[in-house]
Amino acid sequence: MASIFSKIISGELPSYKIAETDEFLAFLDINPNAKGHTLCIPKKEVNKIFDLDEKSYLDLMVFSRKVAIAIEKAIPCKRVGMTVVGLEVPHVHVHLIPLNSMEDIRFLNKASLTTQEFQNTVKAIKAYL
Ligand code: 5GP
Repeated sequence: MASIFSKIISGELPSYKIAETDEFLAFLDINPNAKGHTLCIPKKEVNKIFDLDEKSYLDLMVFSRKVAIAIEKAIPCKRVGMTVVGLEVPHVHVHLIPLNSMEDIRFLNKASLTTQEFQNTVKAIKAYL
């Protein structure tokens, strides 16, 4: 069965898209730790990040870095943190999270954003891509 993220790639499920290439997609996390929390995924559906072939892994890092640099310019924060978990969705995804404190990377506190705030966040980040 296709993962939730494959359904986002195909357009079956909606998302707030930040960036897209033939191989990768970046979109806002629907339940963000902080405003600007973004997921970068390969379009190829692979469960665990270290099962990606080396080129896809490195290309995902290059793609994620570009997105992270844009997030850091667009969203006031001390830095953008990167983490990979994957316990909820079995489709490789890199979390890029604007950090102001350790709390922001702990997946305990969540930011509640309106549709308008999600849309404004997309616009703000895309302006730096
Ligand atoms: P993990 O698998 O790394 O533990 O977490 C999965 C992440 O995907 C969570 O931060 C969760 O909020 C996010 N997520 C789960 N379902 C959806 C969805 O349908 N759309 C979006 N944009 N994010 C999702």
